Amino acid sequence: KIAYVNGSYVPHSEAKVSVFDRGFLFADGIYEVAAVLEGKLIDNASHLARLKRSVGEIQLALPETLERIEEIQKELVKRNDLVNGMVYLEVTRGADKGRDFAFPKAEANVKPTLVMFTSEKDIINAPSAKTGINVITVPDIRWERRDIKSVALLAQVLAKQAAAAAGAGEAWMIEDGKVTEGGSSSSFIVTQDDVVVTRQNGSEILPGCTRNAVVKLAEERQLRIEERAFTVEEALAAKEAFITSASVFVQGVVAIDGKTVGNGKVGPITDRLREIYVEFAKATAV
Ligand code: PLP
Repeated sequence: KIAYVNGSYVPHSEAKVSVFDRGFLFADGIYEVAAVLEGKLIDNASHLARLKRSVGEIQLALPETLERIEEIQKELVKRNDLVNGMVYLEVTRGADKGRDFAFPKAEANVKPTLVMFTSEKDIINAPSAKTGINVITVPDIRWERRDIKSVALLAQVLAKQAAAAAGAGEAWMIEDGKVTEGGSSSSFIVTQDDVVVTRQNGSEILPGCTRNAVVKLAEERQLRIEERAFTVEEALAAKEAFITSASVFVQGVVAIDGKTVGNGKVGPITDRLREIYVEFAKATAV
């Protein structure tokens, strides 16, 4: 398998960055994950727009244009013969000896690090798309700028490890009694009145590319949708619940903390939104 590291395509065994890299030392970096279906990138314009916004928020200049980044993503898909899976992309503030917290001085001429690699995953035929997943709830202990897709993911590592240890597929993070989002996904419920509810965008959550697409697609199809925070109690009283992300698309949630949601099966609105999303994904793939 081939990775991209600062201008070179190299085997994974040679894909390395410096121990002085600020991504490694300070988590001073941004990442993106775009899905690949049948060799094509899914909703990549949204991922690149979010990348641009994230790096802007931390005053990091991208080492390549967005157009060039997409070219590299496509080249990597090709070199890996990737049919279905994901392209991971990370940019950091580069390697700077001295471990100064403040940004490297201009005269040090430190270049950002840009790495990408691919992984295989059959998102469409994943068994959990049919069965749904269980989630657990954990306190949201993250920082206050969750809208930035930063590589500082320790809170999510602990949340998702707790989920894995409990045999659950995701952890829903709770703040002030409300669900913010999943460890690596956006959270949705469908109320008894068939209203699709997901938290409004803001600094409390990552603006999910899949979330945003699903909201738009649902609106276009005249489904009722409300962007607001909801509680776990509301989720447990809901008809359906689901998560969205580039790596699962739309996936049903059938239990929360061991308590069944709805009838304990993936619901019809979840299934429909998944179909609608997959159709959109295929139609707009590049
Ligand atoms: N929320 C968080 C915290 C995430 O880490 C992710 C994806 O990794 C998402 C939501 C889903 O975002 P997207 O749909 O852009 O993959």
